[in-house]
Amino acid sequence: MHEYSLVRALADRVEEEARSRKAVAVHRLTVAIGAVSGVEPRLFETAFTLCREGILADTELQIRRVEAAWACPSCGQAIASDAALRCEPCGQAARLCGGDELVLEQIEMEVP
Ligand SMILES: [Zn+2]
Repeated sequence: MHEYSLVRALADRVEEEARSRKAVAVHRLTVAIGAVSGVEPRLFETAFTLCREGILADTELQIRRVEAAWACPSCGQAIASDAALRCEPCGQAARLCGGDELVLEQIEMEVP
């Protein structure tokens, strides 16, 4: 389950950030998980619960789901993912332009 290593990497980053700002607590993390990122939000949440320690012991994890987004590579037109995944005017196959990310969007920490 690669969610564990992702959570571990996330925790390391947050701990480093908290240390550099001399934070005493981290209240909440917001993470964006794309629908086609290969990350299962439920597993990610479970992994986070199991990995929580130190400054992250009471941290709330908020997950924001990001739907897959497609666009035409020539004209940039957004293409609905339930459509044929092809730009009508250009005849180009749609290109994935969002929804494959795993991004740490926000850290709410307490700095005395
Ligand atoms: Zn086009």
